[in-house]
Amino acid sequence: MYKRLTRWLRLLGYDASFDTSLEDEEYPPIAIKEDRILLTRDDLLAEIAIKQGAKTIVVKGLSIEEKLVHLHKEAGIELSFSDDILPRCSNCNGELKIITKKKVAELVPEGTREHFDLFWQCKNKKCAKVYWKGSHWQKMENTLKNCQELLKKEKKQSTKKDKKKKED
Ligand SMILES: [Zn+2]
Repeated sequence: MYKRLTRWLRLLGYDASFDTSLEDEEYPPIAIKEDRILLTRDDLLAEIAIKQGAKTIVVKGLSIEEKLVHLHKEAGIELSFSDDILPRCSNCNGELKIITKKKVAELVPEGTREHFDLFWQCKNKKCAKVYWKGSHWQKMENTLKNCQELLKKEKKQSTKKDKKKKED
């Protein structure tokens, strides 16, 4: 259900697990054991999970921007790529490491190697996916910008509401 959101969280550097194979009641104990925040759209599951003591967020929003902004407000996730935090593999949640241009030679087309200086590779040997800040990355930066705009708008609206309340 949250495949796309999971990929996003990983690229922002968060350790995000995605599994739709479990029964509802199996999620809360795993979230507790692995110290994860359970993300769900299911109010009933959220209620059960919270009762069991699992940190839980009912994700609101339709667009990816709305969802990310919601998670920013609820859990403080960053809405920008930080130079200090390496992304995680969007594919498998593995940690990424920076690799040299030389090493990337066999893995990335020449044109790409010419245009980019920074490459990462997934440390998970089974996956070993290579990343660079290509056009896809640009699109993601734009999405994050949209998120920040959305957040600003929401803040403005809520201060307006506050003012109105005071005036009332
Ligand atoms: Zn990977």
